[in-house]
Amino acid sequence: MNVIRAQSGWIEVICGSMFSGKTEELIRRLRRAQIAKQEVQIFKPIIDARYSLDHIASHSDQKLKAQVVRSAKDILEAISAKTQVVGIDEAQFFNLDLVDACQTLADRGLRVIVAGLDQDYRGLPFEPIPQLLAIAEYITKNNAICVVCGNPASRSQRIIADEERVVVGAQDAYEARCRVCFDPELNDKNTKTKKDKKTRPLRSSQARPS
Ligand SMILES: [Zn+2]
Repeated sequence: MNVIRAQSGWIEVICGSMFSGKTEELIRRLRRAQIAKQEVQIFKPIIDARYSLDHIASHSDQKLKAQVVRSAKDILEAISAKTQVVGIDEAQFFNLDLVDACQTLADRGLRVIVAGLDQDYRGLPFEPIPQLLAIAEYITKNNAICVVCGNPASRSQRIIADEERVVVGAQDAYEARCRVCFDPELNDKNTKTKKDKKTRPLRSSQARPS
């Protein structure tokens, strides 16, 4: 006897540091779904202006057309009835409402694939990714390669001085670093130096851990 089950949705999270290939992996999965003739919708937050306004784009210049949204609520409102797969890039720019939105879509039977930074420049968990990891069915954690020593890199080292949690559209502001070479206080030191002396911040080559 054949049992016909209601179509079940699920959540996939692709996380990791900067330069770890998160968007590349997201694009790969979404392309596979498109090749299988599944209905795909892709979203990105309005804050991420790098490369291309209405595309998600990896550092290796792969692109897919995306809808730009201001909030997780906008994603729910923009979903069309025939959509089967939803891709969301740069999840760290959304607030915790994204968690509920992903749950709602997965509960409706959609496959939801979310990519984002799991740690901020201090190496601290970067919401909403930790919350999404807890409820996801599938998790992929990518590493980059540490630019200092060549080991697998799980941290995003900010190498310019800035007090914002994310410096938008400034790829040169970050380096992938491993646990040993990562200095969570480097940014604060640089910011302080900038304020105190109004000099240029330390570059990474001057600020390597001893
Ligand atoms: Zn290292």
